[in-house]
Amino acid sequence: ATSLTPTAFAAAEAHSAHNYHPLEVVISHAEGAWVTDVDGRRCLDMLAGYSALNFGHGHPGLLAAAREQLDKVTLTSRAFVHDQFAEFTERLAAMCGKDMVLPMNTGAEAVETAIKVARKWGYDVKGVPAEQAEIIVMAGNFHGRTTTVVGFSDDADARDGFGPFAPGFVMVPYADLAAIEAAITPNTVAVLVEPIQGESGVVIPGDEFLPGLRELCTRENVLFAADEIQAGLGRTGYTFACDHAGVKPDMYILGKALGGGIVPVSAVVADRDVLDVIGPGQHGSTFGGNPLACAVGTAVIDLLETGEFQARAEALGQVLHARLKAMVGNGIVDFRTRGLWAGVDIDPAVGTGREICERLLARGVLAKDTHGSTIRLAPPLVIDEDDLHWALDQLEAAVSA
Ligand code: PLP
Repeated sequence: ATSLTPTAFAAAEAHSAHNYHPLEVVISHAEGAWVTDVDGRRCLDMLAGYSALNFGHGHPGLLAAAREQLDKVTLTSRAFVHDQFAEFTERLAAMCGKDMVLPMNTGAEAVETAIKVARKWGYDVKGVPAEQAEIIVMAGNFHGRTTTVVGFSDDADARDGFGPFAPGFVMVPYADLAAIEAAITPNTVAVLVEPIQGESGVVIPGDEFLPGLRELCTRENVLFAADEIQAGLGRTGYTFACDHAGVKPDMYILGKALGGGIVPVSAVVADRDVLDVIGPGQHGSTFGGNPLACAVGTAVIDLLETGEFQARAEALGQVLHARLKAMVGNGIVDFRTRGLWAGVDIDPAVGTGREICERLLARGVLAKDTHGSTIRLAPPLVIDEDDLHWALDQLEAAVSA
């Protein structure tokens, strides 16, 4: 039979903006860690929607929660209150050990929300003079694609051609406590940090960084805003990547897996003295905190409360680590893992990251390169151990020159 993929792929590219460079696969079904394409070919998903699919494709509990809610009410707007809102916000706040939740939809919106909250807190609580608030950000950051957010990126592709940008951000090298301390002024309202930099290639800071940042922010009266959008919700073997260091930020910024891979759900979670600076009319979103999002989000919290996914990430992460370690010098030059999450630096002699991902696709494995020669591996946390081994067998073969 002739393959349906080339035609389906060309049709998908024909009338869409080319803001992505997808691999040539057209998916029509998915279950657990596996997807099926329009030709009926199965591939193992080692990207998991950039960690939005931590619980796998079509998790029965999440689908049941979504289906049940679909038949009741899906959208009210925040002009009215719906019956799914209280449980979601109360339980998400509790999971974070915080008082309050501000729900949005996408990750970038949650980051924008955190920026607004931090500035307002700076003016109303800390006493920063009007329009003077500064936020410290990290080199190599990725926080989304809105104009304010790309304005404080140092990635030329993300940034060039999209200015002018919003002022008020100061960049320092990632995880450099001395540089952060030196950058803090009386007008600093927050330090915005990914506890592990995902897009940058799963860059893991030294063990002293997060505790040191916690201490520094407390001492200097600056908010510690942790973007856990990609690192959080089970991926690292903990509910939050900050948990690994035993650290509680002032603001959790959450997204991706919070919507269970079904609906976009994001949130900023913080204590009352921080989040209560936002009043009616000062922030919002038509879809933020909608009934379907809350029902799915609550079902996600149910899953995380079992601890099962964190435990799988930890156990399977050891397999991932051991297998990658054996590949160093044999097609990969370096790698970093935390839980079931890896950045793998491909030896340029065996191909670019893109070429390796194309070879992996030919072998039935879906993965995505980042920044030229790094491949990020982040399978759904429900992946079978045998399937993980099989995927790593394919990687081993794909990087064997
Ligand atoms: N922050 C981090 C750490 C991310 O990894 C991402 C997405 O990759 C975002 C923010 C942006 O999320 P979204 O694409 O949902 O806007």
